[in-house]
Amino acid sequence: MNVHIIRDEHCPLAVYQNVFDKLSKSIGIINFIKSKDDALIQDDTDDMFDEKERKPMNKYHFLSFSQLYDICENYRKKYNIDKNDHVFLLSGANNYQNWFSNMDHERNNYFVQVTEWELFFGAEIEVSFILCYQVMSWLLKRKLFSSESKVKAAVHTKARGCMMDFCQNKRDITLKIRTADLCPDCLNIIKSKDVPLNFLNQVFFLWEEIRKNIIFRERAEFLNRTGRMIINPPKKTLFFPDYGDIVVRLSPQQMAFYQLFISEPNGINMNSLIDHAKTLKDYYFKITGNDDIAATTNIYAIKDNVASQLLSKINRKLVGNLGKTLASCYIIERTYNEPHKIRINREYVTLLP
Ligand SMILES: [Zn+2]
Repeated sequence: MNVHIIRDEHCPLAVYQNVFDKLSKSIGIINFIKSKDDALIQDDTDDMFDEKERKPMNKYHFLSFSQLYDICENYRKKYNIDKNDHVFLLSGANNYQNWFSNMDHERNNYFVQVTEWELFFGAEIEVSFILCYQVMSWLLKRKLFSSESKVKAAVHTKARGCMMDFCQNKRDITLKIRTADLCPDCLNIIKSKDVPLNFLNQVFFLWEEIRKNIIFRERAEFLNRTGRMIINPPKKTLFFPDYGDIVVRLSPQQMAFYQLFISEPNGINMNSLIDHAKTLKDYYFKITGNDDIAATTNIYAIKDNVASQLLSKINRKLVGNLGKTLASCYIIERTYNEPHKIRINREYVTLLP
């Protein structure tokens, strides 16, 4: 069963990548396929990173269901996708009906809205988990019900903490995702439909990951626990195993810059960045194999403000992935007259070679 995951111009690349990574980690009959548009981004140089980050989402951007499905259809045509394959659009647009997600039964097309979740889960939620929940739910619904009217007939108008809860009030969706489960009635439908076991296993595996993550994050915040961070310069990732395997991807410049601040627990004064030029260049060279003096010189060239832009981009990625509270230890920040620094106790940091 092939499932293509694509995005529109309003869905940020980072959200897309996080969703795809999580989905493709699951093992089973469902084969998740990356958008061929995004597969073109192979060489992640700094230039590419900036260029490929698409326009920010616009809260006034509205589309109809059929316009959303048309994006899936156009993708099918463009790449000659088999009609039995499923195409999932991660969309940054709002829809007139104000739904989070829906499916076009006839053509195996689906959309999931990537915006507005923080209104219901707070800014602390990592949206990709919720989006994965939605993807798996729709695939399961597609297996269970042969038409839209059959889905409608089976929804629960009163919330039970089940996938089939209707959630007229969008707020009810929090219950559904926190339980990530099915009620006994729905389990009976599954039994009667002869759904393959390896398909169900894959759905339940991902749901379990989502539930664990949501609950773990809430507890970690509540207990004020620090999670480990694993820095992988060759892969240009920051990995947070204690927060449900969250991965933050950086560009080569961002990675070198972040590493520099990790290597200086007491912080760095931004106007003396030039004193660290050699270290910065070494890090950059190790990551890219490119002894490009220009790429690092322009970081500490104060006049064009590259350093502060890098800093805010890194911080935005961390906050976007971890939420404001959890990210506070890992961002590069400045308090009072202190130099810029990353607060995390270095005991919790592993730097891979
Ligand atoms: Zn149910």
